[in-house]
Amino acid sequence: MDTEVLIVGAGPTGLTLAIDLGRRGVRCTVLEQKPAPQFLPKMERCNARTMEIYRRMGIAGRIRAAGLPGHCPMDVFIVLSLAEPPLYHLHYPSVEEYRAQIARCEDASQPLEPYQLVSQYTLEPLLKSIAESLPGVTVRYGCEFLSFRQDASGVEALTRQGPLRAAYLVGCDGGSSPVRRQLGIELAGDANLLELRQALYYCEDLYERIPIGKGRHYHVADGQHSFLIVQDSTRHFTLHAVVERDEDMAAQFEKTIALPLKYEMLYVGAWRQNLLLAERYGAGRVFIAGDAAHLVIPTGGLGMNSGVGDAIDLSWKLAATLQGWGGPQLLASYEIERRQVGSRNVAASRFASQGRRKWRAMYRPDIRDNPETRANLARVAYAEQPKSNEMIGAELGYRYVASPLVWPEPGEGPAHDFIEYLPTTFPGARLPHVWLADGSAVQDRIGYELGFTLLRFSDQDVNGLAKAFASLGAPLRILTLRDERARDLYGHDLILLRPDLHVAWRGNQPPGESLQLARIATGH
Ligand SMILES: Cc1cc2nc3c(=O)[nH]c(=O)nc-3n(C[C@H](O)[C@H](O)[C@H](O)COP(=O)(O)OP(=O)(O)OC[C@H]3O[C@@H](n4cnc5c(N)ncnc54)[C@H](O)[C@@H]3O)c2cc1C
Repeated sequence: MDTEVLIVGAGPTGLTLAIDLGRRGVRCTVLEQKPAPQFLPKMERCNARTMEIYRRMGIAGRIRAAGLPGHCPMDVFIVLSLAEPPLYHLHYPSVEEYRAQIARCEDASQPLEPYQLVSQYTLEPLLKSIAESLPGVTVRYGCEFLSFRQDASGVEALTRQGPLRAAYLVGCDGGSSPVRRQLGIELAGDANLLELRQALYYCEDLYERIPIGKGRHYHVADGQHSFLIVQDSTRHFTLHAVVERDEDMAAQFEKTIALPLKYEMLYVGAWRQNLLLAERYGAGRVFIAGDAAHLVIPTGGLGMNSGVGDAIDLSWKLAATLQGWGGPQLLASYEIERRQVGSRNVAASRFASQGRRKWRAMYRPDIRDNPETRANLARVAYAEQPKSNEMIGAELGYRYVASPLVWPEPGEGPAHDFIEYLPTTFPGARLPHVWLADGSAVQDRIGYELGFTLLRFSDQDVNGLAKAFASLGAPLRILTLRDERARDLYGHDLILLRPDLHVAWRGNQPPGESLQLARIATGH
């Protein structure tokens, strides 16, 4: 083997996977066809769950330092231009304000980390440098993947630079994924819903001079779906709009900002809105993750963030399998767990984008002169626009239903809600963030080393479970927390957590069938 895991694509999904594998001691190689990271706009917001994941990986601070400063507002506006009174203004907390809210939170309803605005062209080179600093991780730019062959013991990938052999291959190679194509996996859903142009501008003075107030998104109520986004430097901006020619994006920017400022247009390109989900997430030793597996309309922020979720689910399963204690169901569970999240996130994105279409449909060319047109549009936007910006339920509340790795607790479990986050420890859910009496966070008390953790809020004898995990060679740590409030918020004395901090089992007595539980949790 040249490496243990071969990752195709150095976008945020592939690089996050490489860092997590590298930190868990797995040797991996990332192949990227581009000669170097590019300064091209795409995503700009890591959601709260992604930032929790990056915190566990020890890199959240570096991402924040590279991103939008913590005091900058995250507000969203609907406008005619930046120089006219907004039709609708939604206030969202800056990272500093959000952090203060989290610090005050006494229940389990908040994430441990606030979101972070960081442009993809800032994030990717940073993730690349972190990946390259890890022993065992190789990142090869300018290396195009062409095809693969797999057999019972591994995968051989052909690249333009020659062949490479690995135990597993993961296609994190974006929407047109060559890996997915070679697997013959179809995408189901709606393609090419709308084609827009996106341009990137540098404008030194705009951010400081926006007369209607600072924010991150300015949706323009026009017939061209115009939408201005502040990037992390606050000197770069992107504008999306339906226009005929690339050159039209200059006039569109001038019309949107409506301020006589000097600017440079750095890039223009076209992109299409899709709502698509891969029918499978892999075959044999080959998997797909990120945009290769699901494509959403990105305004709700479920694109790259879903890819980070895929990476973190697949990473520990690959590591445990390579370490020898992962059972045969472990890697097979990746598709079962993550495809349902992909499906729900595609649905959440559809729901949010339909909301935006509804208020955009209220646009009439007389909007500047007719107060009634403006009032009608604002009334619909009031009900519909928050759907795009308030999907904390989708971000934090996702739960792996009917997973072979999760103990089948009786009952359906709480319903999935995109908008509202309802904290739960129902098996399959992400462990809600709770502050302990000493001011530390439960998530921070759980070590990063590969293995399971049993949270114990009592003195019960859990030797049976420890022995069961030991018999499978799977690491299990017992973390005893004497904290009544946390126990009450979690609702159980004992909670078994996987390495990705999803609940595998919960109870008030040690499990009667310890070996069966350990076998399920580890994929045997
Ligand atoms: C305008 C816009 C705004 C967005 N905003 C957000 C947002 O705010 N939040 C959010 O979560 N998401 C957002 N997204 C979506 C987000 O950008 C994508 O979901 C994200 O880039 C997916 O990451 P990925 O790593 O899976 O794939 P990609 O970023 O597409 O990376 C795939 C990589 O694979 C490489 N590759 C492909 N083929 C080969 C090959 N044969 N050999 C080697 N390498 C190959 C590509 O060069 C590329 O670098 C936005 C998208 C757009 C277009």
